[in-house]
Amino acid sequence: MEKRFLIYENWRAENKAVVHKSECGHANEGHTKITNQWLRENPSSNDRWFGYFSTLNEAISFGALIPNRNLKLCGHCLINEKNEL
Ligand SMILES: [Zn+2]
Repeated sequence: MEKRFLIYENWRAENKAVVHKSECGHANEGHTKITNQWLRENPSSNDRWFGYFSTLNEAISFGALIPNRNLKLCGHCLINEKNEL
């Protein structure tokens, strides 16, 4: 399966946005896998998902444009990539 990436932004918790792989367990809401269909049906006032991005660089480039957000890589699914930065 082709790797895809998502960005999770939550402005209630912390001023950060986190990049995840689409298959990451953290890229779930409850037990519901985040999909574009899910995004349409679950608008939220506290957080937002952006995606999908086909490459990590694309996700990072996009994330850098989100105002007032400290972009992080997920310590779970992107731990290898995180260590390389
Ligand atoms: Zn993750």
